[in-house]
Amino acid sequence: MTSPPEESNSSAQPPAGGGAPGGVVGVLALQGAVAPHLAALAELGVDPVEVRTTEALAAVDRLVIPGGESTTLDHLLRTEGLREPLRQRALDRSLALFGTCAGAILLGRDREDERPRRLGVVDVTVDRNAYGRQMDSFIGPIEAEGALGAEPLEGVFIRAPRFRDAGEGIEVLARRGGEAVALRQARTILCTFHPELSSDRRLHRLFLDL
Ligand code: GLN
Repeated sequence: MTSPPEESNSSAQPPAGGGAPGGVVGVLALQGAVAPHLAALAELGVDPVEVRTTEALAAVDRLVIPGGESTTLDHLLRTEGLREPLRQRALDRSLALFGTCAGAILLGRDREDERPRRLGVVDVTVDRNAYGRQMDSFIGPIEAEGALGAEPLEGVFIRAPRFRDAGEGIEVLARRGGEAVALRQARTILCTFHPELSSDRRLHRLFLDL
């Protein structure tokens, strides 16, 4: 009996404990659409950790900030002492981030005129609840581009925000009617919709490669 070559044993194994190759992957689990992000990452062979404490935050290399309610998320980030360490690690780029909907709101440019205070990680203004009453929540096709490839995506928009005045050097990953709905700057991806609620995993995959 000959034992199989080493490579055939080591390939296709999901990284244990959220580990290599993308490092430890976390989902901020204070509020909002946490479970569907955990499931989406598990589909990609990742074993994500739920982040609720500064210790858990310090142990992750990548973090999803899910949709939910951005003012509540902001409040909980502050009361749990997570806001500053999160901002620091985002700015020194030791943490890759994926902000969806409320998560994207928090990671945008800070502004005086709309609560909550933003973390200022990505150079884009994000307007909350920006589709108006008639269009409050909807599902529609999205045009992918750049690193996401050419196949359209499904966009699940739930009281979604809109991007405005994106800075130089921000890469658009998807548009709806010509308007950016997913973008990337350095090690952060933002999208205004909920990719975890659709079956397409391109955005999660891209996040694991940041
Ligand atoms: N409207 C919410 C907010 O302002 C975001 C909605 C969502 O995350 N689906 O925070």
